[in-house]
Amino acid sequence: MSMPSFALVRPRAVDEALEHLARHGAEAMLVAGGTDVVPNLRAGLFSPRVVVDLKGLGDLSGITFDRERGLEIGALATLTAVAESQLVRQHYPVLAQAAGTVASPVLRNMGTLGGNLCLETRCRWYNQSYFWRQSCGFCLKKDGTVCHVAPGGKRCWAVWSGDTAGALLALDAEIEIAGPAGRRRLSLTDFYKNDGVDRIHLGRGEILTRILVPATMAGYRGTYHKLRIRNSIDYPLAGVALVVKVEDGVCRDARLGLVAVNPAPVLVREVESLLVGQRFTPELTEAVVQAVVRTGKPLTTSMSTPEYRREMLRVFSRRALRELWRENGSH
Ligand SMILES: Cc1cc2nc3c(=O)[nH]c(=O)nc-3n(C[C@H](O)[C@H](O)[C@H](O)COP(=O)(O)OP(=O)(O)OC[C@H]3O[C@@H](n4cnc5c(N)ncnc54)[C@H](O)[C@@H]3O)c2cc1C
Repeated sequence: MSMPSFALVRPRAVDEALEHLARHGAEAMLVAGGTDVVPNLRAGLFSPRVVVDLKGLGDLSGITFDRERGLEIGALATLTAVAESQLVRQHYPVLAQAAGTVASPVLRNMGTLGGNLCLETRCRWYNQSYFWRQSCGFCLKKDGTVCHVAPGGKRCWAVWSGDTAGALLALDAEIEIAGPAGRRRLSLTDFYKNDGVDRIHLGRGEILTRILVPATMAGYRGTYHKLRIRNSIDYPLAGVALVVKVEDGVCRDARLGLVAVNPAPVLVREVESLLVGQRFTPELTEAVVQAVVRTGKPLTTSMSTPEYRREMLRVFSRRALRELWRENGSH
């Protein structure tokens, strides 16, 4: 589990970072806080010749809010900064809550929001030492030909295990990506591929620079529920993020994002059509719960069983709905 050798470059501007990526192509790897990259390098999951350290790009760590433009967060803002930002807590509480559940305080001080959105997918057959993986004949995601989770198929089912993506999907977030052709904006829903190996729409020469949340979503009630083995540190095994807007007991808008059950974070599309225009009832809650378990498809990618994780999706979505319903004083 020792660190492989590589050259470390520390650009001071996005354009300089892009030049390094263009020059070194597939041999380069980006690192922000390094809280996911470093353990992966030690496990021999990557062997870059050049590591491009983004932490010197100081102008990418700000958090601003404007009533017209909404929230803008630099990709290098730490999770602690996001979780503790008064702007985020006041206008988009579900994001502050989700960021505050990532890992542990020390890792949140290092880990960035951009890194959290670009995280590698995880699986118990993949996040292991070289020796462990070799003894199992490796796996489809790295060095092998078989997915041990679904051996008959040709897909990798490694799971999207970042906490903030569900909340940001529910908040209709966009991202800004810088690349050789300039900057482009992309809806966060279009960023993820639902493929355990090739997980995100980010070219080799590109960098995620900003996260943008629309002003129209400011003030929505929100909550994030997370399953993990140890509450003090672990990656999610299932996560439910819900945001709602309720006026006079009637739901005006609702979105629900799931993480840690599929190879991508996903929005449960039916939730909006089920809830909008309705008053909350236990029957409606159960209809939402059914939609959630039709969308979230946990497999044997972690030490927790798929059955338990699916059951916790039910529990969390029920709890989330009741919690926000109560907060809105509508029952
Ligand atoms: C013990 C432990 C527990 C953890 N628990 C959790 C948890 O509960 N929830 C959770 O979500 N995460 C968890 N993590 C993972 C990690 O701490 C966080 O996801 C963190 O947000 C990653 O951010 P980072 O800046 O450290 O990313 P890095 O490790 O630097 O990078 C992660 C990935 O994103 C890419 N990347 C980083 N920044 C950019 C960018 N701006 N543009 C393009 N690509 C980029 C990197 O190349 C790499 O592929 C845990 C990690 C450890 C070690």
